[in-house]
Amino acid sequence: MSANTKLCAPPCDCGSGETRYPLYDGYNIFLCYACDICKEQKLGRYRPDIMEKYLCDEPIEEDDGVDDDVARFPLYPWEK
Ligand SMILES: [Zn+2]
Repeated sequence: MSANTKLCAPPCDCGSGETRYPLYDGYNIFLCYACDICKEQKLGRYRPDIMEKYLCDEPIEEDDGVDDDVARFPLYPWEK
């Protein structure tokens, strides 16, 4: 019976014996397995805002600006 239970719901690796479940961040990216006992502790290893969508605040994609800089400043300025 215990073997069958183990197959269906593996216990958490923290040793609590609780059923583990996967944790995901705000983008549904898998973080780790945890149970109710150790969830807070394991989430503490990550950034506190990891459960939120952390790319919505500031624009990171600035490809146009980067390309302009590369064109404006040649790679080897001494080779005129
Ligand atoms: Zn646990």
